[in-house]
Amino acid sequence: MGGTRLAHARVVVTGAAGFLGSHLTDALLSAGAEVVGIDNLLTGSLDNLAHLTREDRFRLLEHDVTGHIEVEGRVDLVLHAASPASPVDYLQLPIQTLKVGSLGTHNALGLAKDNRAAFLLFSTSEVYGDPDVHPQPETYRGNVDPVGPRGVYDEAKRFAEALTFAYHRTHGVPVHVVRIFNTYGPRMRMEDGRAVPNFVRQALAGEPLAVHGDGQQTRSLCYVDDLIAGMLAVLEHGVRGPINLGSRHEVTITQLADAVMDAVGVHPGIVHVDRPVDDPEVRCPDTSLARELLGWEAHMTLAEGLERTVAWYRRAA
Ligand code: UDP
Repeated sequence: MGGTRLAHARVVVTGAAGFLGSHLTDALLSAGAEVVGIDNLLTGSLDNLAHLTREDRFRLLEHDVTGHIEVEGRVDLVLHAASPASPVDYLQLPIQTLKVGSLGTHNALGLAKDNRAAFLLFSTSEVYGDPDVHPQPETYRGNVDPVGPRGVYDEAKRFAEALTFAYHRTHGVPVHVVRIFNTYGPRMRMEDGRAVPNFVRQALAGEPLAVHGDGQQTRSLCYVDDLIAGMLAVLEHGVRGPINLGSRHEVTITQLADAVMDAVGVHPGIVHVDRPVDDPEVRCPDTSLARELLGWEAHMTLAEGLERTVAWYRRAA
């Protein structure tokens, strides 16, 4: 699906009311596409789409994609983003998480197949689990405990990748699989439980930032605009993947807490609290493939990205 085809495409986005789904919807509309969003608002929010109320090229179907998906008219591309994505959410919604990754992916692939449309799966760095290879290349097969608490998300996404490739091999559906590493920015729910919104909320309230464990575990944080640019590049270049998208700038969670305090301009300090079970020790993408195939990498610095994010939370509060 090249850039020019995107301009006239009719695109279905599952999870359109979510953090990434809504940003991708905006980018598709800017590229000239028509977008049919689908969301059951389990973790998504209509607030993320409120600016599109008068947009003729957008409509939202309030529907749970674990049930059969019906979209009238032609569909050129299905982007399957729907899923709880915060560890706190998927621990509270284990069965919904497994169902949207399995049944939801099946229905979204079926929609693509029936329409001879292309399909893009929002996969995740969680397919690598708690990695014993660092940084993680796409060839690394992962270290996931299927029956651990995070297994509900990790295995659902691993199954979703397998099903996506099965539809490609069996039915010839043109597919793309992107493995998304930690991403942050405006529209992440303040209460979603992930490190950035939690730290920003605590800093804005002047409370100490609650760091899990000793805070020496690492993540690499990608600003949402960079991530969306990478996804559009995947579509434009027709890359099948799986392909890692994320920032290569790895920081400890303590460093992240410090950076958030700097961005907010207050320094209430940190408190150490219990670490969740199976919390990965390190995470950083090997993005050689994205650089080679797409000429893409994340550019936004953490300081600038956090500044923009904090400004948005201040406005939204
Ligand atoms: N974390 C933390 N305090 C919080 C939320 C998260 O210390 O309030 C830690 C968490 O244990 C993990 C890292 O920050 O090591 C990133 O967590 P997040 O939930 O953002 O995403 P994950 O990478 O685990 O999916």
